[in-house]
Amino acid sequence: MKRRNILATLGLGVAGLMLAGCGAEEKAATTTAAVQKAEQQTYQWKLVTTWPKNFPGLGEAPERFAKDVERMSQGRLKIKVYGGGELVPPLEVFDAVSQGTAEAGHGAGYYWKGKVPAAQFFSTVPFGLNAQEFNGWLHYGGGIELWREIYEPFGLVPFAGGNTGVQMGGWFNREINSVEDLKGLKMRIPGLGGEVLQRAGGTPVNLPGGEIFTALQTGTIDATEWVGPYNDLAFGLHKIAKFYYYPGWHEPGTALELIINKKALESLPADLQAIVEVAARAANQDLLDEYTARNNAALMELVTQHGVQLKKFPDDVLNQLQVISEQVVAEVAEKDPASQKVYDSFKAFRDQVVQYHEISEKAYINAR
Ligand code: CA
Repeated sequence: MKRRNILATLGLGVAGLMLAGCGAEEKAATTTAAVQKAEQQTYQWKLVTTWPKNFPGLGEAPERFAKDVERMSQGRLKIKVYGGGELVPPLEVFDAVSQGTAEAGHGAGYYWKGKVPAAQFFSTVPFGLNAQEFNGWLHYGGGIELWREIYEPFGLVPFAGGNTGVQMGGWFNREINSVEDLKGLKMRIPGLGGEVLQRAGGTPVNLPGGEIFTALQTGTIDATEWVGPYNDLAFGLHKIAKFYYYPGWHEPGTALELIINKKALESLPADLQAIVEVAARAANQDLLDEYTARNNAALMELVTQHGVQLKKFPDDVLNQLQVISEQVVAEVAEKDPASQKVYDSFKAFRDQVVQYHEISEKAYINAR
């Protein structure tokens, strides 16, 4: 009786209790159904790239990412990869993903330097970090947080999308014996390296990979750099340039980027978001592994089968380029508060890691 009174006071009868019970169950059932629905829902994404479709290394990285995501999500998230120019021109990938024309994109930050100067620091900096150091800065040194802050106004979430390792210095039809030899040279060289060439008296040209061969062949440019032996051999650059210079002072460990439209990413259930994140991290490391394995064989082929003349930039040229680079990079940073913020973080990390790598990686490489 006592219990009935309490129920009566609360305005609930037995029927009311049953209804309340049903409500909780219904709510639970609705939640379960929503989770099941989210788990069953499939998503189709488009991924646009700056590379020719299936281009060795660079173009394979986004394909691998898409396959891994599909495999891990058991087909719930399918990503169709488009080569440069198939859906949007190669250098419009950033805008296309920002505007939602495609949910994802693969390219390199320095291609967007006209729009986002700070993006250059997330591809590569002349005489800056190598691949191992860049990944350290990005994932454990505050780099990725800054990168996300820089891309936030564009509705983009960036991820590291692979790294080439130290690139080659480029293809030339004349010898480079002094910095004077760079004067008047029209060279395809993107990003901050291009700014350095300009300061040294040359003319940098920003061209997507697919246009390099023709530009060099027709004399639109006098020289070019691309990536390293594996990728350069694929473009056949040895057919139109005599000298292959090293090291790639301008790109000591170029990071590629995987950009995802923020709204598209956030519309995915949590487990698919996690799959995207982990697949990106795997693709980032995988590309470096592939270059490490394939560059040497390609270099041997270039030298022994195609008679390429391999040359090292003279030490004096490298020293002068390093001095110019320090000035140019600091000046680029000064002009733009966002770049300055990224540069400060980057530089603090570099100064620290260089000291440790003097007595670890470098000491070991010199000793073996
Ligand atoms: Ca390059």
